Amino acid sequence: PLTAGIVGLPNVGKSTLFNAITKAGAEAANYPFATIDPNVGIVEVPDERLDRLAELVNPAKVVPTTFEFTDIAGIVKGASKGEGLGNKFLANIREVDAICHVVRCFEDDNITHVSGCVNPAEDIETINLELALADLEAVDKRIERVRKQAKSKDADAVALLAVLEKIKPVLEEGKPVRVLDFTKEELPILRSLFLLTSKPVLYVANVAEEEIADPESNQYLQTVREIAQEEGAEVVAISAAIEEEIAELDDEEKAMFLDDLGVTEPGLNKLIRSSYDLLGLATFFTAGPKEVRAWTFKKGMKAPQTAGVIHTDFERGFIRAETIAFEDYNELGSEKAAREAGKLRAEGKDYVVQDGDVILFRFNV
Ligand code: GDP
Repeated sequence: PLTAGIVGLPNVGKSTLFNAITKAGAEAANYPFATIDPNVGIVEVPDERLDRLAELVNPAKVVPTTFEFTDIAGIVKGASKGEGLGNKFLANIREVDAICHVVRCFEDDNITHVSGCVNPAEDIETINLELALADLEAVDKRIERVRKQAKSKDADAVALLAVLEKIKPVLEEGKPVRVLDFTKEELPILRSLFLLTSKPVLYVANVAEEEIADPESNQYLQTVREIAQEEGAEVVAISAAIEEEIAELDDEEKAMFLDDLGVTEPGLNKLIRSSYDLLGLATFFTAGPKEVRAWTFKKGMKAPQTAGVIHTDFERGFIRAETIAFEDYNELGSEKAAREAGKLRAEGKDYVVQDGDVILFRFNV
C-alpha cells in the first residue's frame, strides 16, 4: 500500500503526532533523536459515507479502509552529507510515496528548538535544502552518465538529459523539483528518476493547543501557507498534543472534548483525508448483509484492476462491475430501489471507477 512519511526537524511534534496515529506508546521525548526507527502506523480512513451505508444495509460487519503513515527519523542539518542519521533519513524518505512535513508553529519555552527559536520558514528551508542537495547529487551523477549517449543522438538519452538539465538549476537554488511544471512527455522521465523533492508534500502546521479552534490566529501558519502555495502544496493545521489526547478517548468522551475545543472533528481526520488525496487515492464500497466495506483504489484505475484490490481472482476472472454511485444509493436507500430506478449500471473492463462507487463485481472462478 502507498504510505505517507512523517518528516520534520527534531522537537516539532512528530512522535506526538505518530503516537496519536497509532495510539501506541512510542516515546515522545524531548530529545532530538527520539524517533530513530521508522515505524508504520495504520489508521482507519474516516468516511461518513461508510457510516451511512452501514445504517442503510445493517450488515453483520462494517470494515473501514486504512491508510499507512510511516514515522521517519529526525533529520539534522547535513543529512545530504551523511552526517548524523542523515543517510538513513534520506533512504527512508526514498521509500515513501508522499511526505507529511511537520512544522513547529507552537511556542513553548520548555521545549528546545533545534535552531533556537520557532521559525517555520527556516525549518522548512533546512529540510528542503537537504533533500534538494541529495537530489542534486543524484542528478549530477546521472548527467555525467547520460551525456555521452546523448551525444550519439540516442533519442531517450537526449530527452532524459533535457529533463535533468531543466531540474538541475532549481536544485542548485535549494528548491524542490515540485515547483517546476512538466509536460506529459517529461513526467514519465521525471518519475523514473525517483527524486526526493518531486514527491508530493503536505505541510502539517503543529499549532498550540489553545489555537486549535482558530488556527488562523497562529502567526506562523500564514508563513507555512505562503511557502506551500509556491510549491502547490496543501497545509493542514493540527495540535499534535491535542490529537494524542483525543486518540485515547472513547467516542462519547471524544465528542465532548471536541465540543469543548470548539471543533467538529479531530485534526487527525483532516490529516488522513488530505494525505489520502495527496496520494491520489479514492474509495469504493462493497455492501451486502454480511459486510459493508470501504476499499482504497488509485484514481484512474479501471474496473478489473479495482476488483483486484479485493482479490486477484476478481481481477483475473472479471466479467463486469455492477455499480451504484453513493449519492444514488444514499438517496434511494437500497440496492433494490437503485436497480428499479435504473441507477445500477453494468460497467465493463474499460470503466474508470469513481470515488464513492458501490460495487458488486461479477467474475468467473
Ligand atoms: P519530535 O522530535 O518531532 O518527534 O517531537 P516530539 O513529538 O517528541 O515533541 C517534542 C516535544 O514537544 C514533546 O515534549 C511534546 O510533548 C511537545 N509537543 C508536541 N506537540 C506539541 C504541541 O502541539 N504543543 C505543545 N505545547 N507541545 C507539543
